[in-house]
Amino acid sequence: MRRVTTFAQIIRTCEEENWKLADYFLYQEMDWRQREGEDSSPEAILEKMEINLQVMESAAKEGIGGVQSYSGLTGYDATRLNAYRSEKAPLGKSIYLDAIVNAIAINEVNASMGLICATPTAGSCGVVPGILLAAREHLKLTRRQQLDFLITSGGCGLMIGNLASISGAEGGCQAEIGSASGMAAAALAEAAGGTPQASTNALAIALKGLLGLVCDPVASLVEVPCIKRNATGVVNAIASAEMALAGMQSRIPTDEVISAMHSVGQLMPSALRETALGGLALTPTARRYTRELKQTGKITWKERKGPLPSI
Ligand code: SF4
Repeated sequence: MRRVTTFAQIIRTCEEENWKLADYFLYQEMDWRQREGEDSSPEAILEKMEINLQVMESAAKEGIGGVQSYSGLTGYDATRLNAYRSEKAPLGKSIYLDAIVNAIAINEVNASMGLICATPTAGSCGVVPGILLAAREHLKLTRRQQLDFLITSGGCGLMIGNLASISGAEGGCQAEIGSASGMAAAALAEAAGGTPQASTNALAIALKGLLGLVCDPVASLVEVPCIKRNATGVVNAIASAEMALAGMQSRIPTDEVISAMHSVGQLMPSALRETALGGLALTPTARRYTRELKQTGKITWKERKGPLPSI
């Protein structure tokens, strides 16, 4: 299989071969496995994806059942949201609310040190499965279509990681929640019948929506604002997929949007890239939480030497 480095090339190949993005990324994975001397059959790859999907399903169930983080900063919000969905939901039941419940549940399980599947990272692990588990009900997806959803989102994440970054420490939260939102938007658009062009438009629109988002975890823990940002990523992804399916295009091509995300990350001061030295992490309330958590002795931090970097 020809090696490609841009979404423009991937779209061209998909159009020539009449493939979906899921077909492209599956063949790419088969090709890589063959080169590595691993089992390169589609069955072997789908089997691995099935394991990932089962981890996601269990995490959603566990989170909705109620979990709390070790620090005590977060927990039980998925349970609250689930009860709100069943008993009230004054704004109406929708794929948005279903996906938010799952996303918060899965990210709460991450904060409680439970088992999750990083998509693309642990901090952003709720976005892709949150949408998939909601979309499969709304779109009546078969099991194979659900695995294709994961193959498409995973392939898009790999591209973003190679062309830019999926690390908050390197590119800020736009690289984590932003990438997750782009991955989910592309997979959702495809699951709803969108072409590769429409799906990559969805990715670009989603990534643009969260461009510049900083990484500022309170007390250096992947909890606040991370868990609620998974809901933000979900809503942004669904809206982006809707826009792309309606025929709206990203005026800036997908590859250039990813490149812009990379350059924004490079320009971002280190205080806003997972060091907890800026943004929400430096608010008076966050400092109080940090002090209180230190006093409990449950969590320890290495003392930072030297002055705070300028923002
Ligand atoms: S704020 Fe930072 S740690 Fe939290 S999800 Fe975003 S990138 Fe990850």
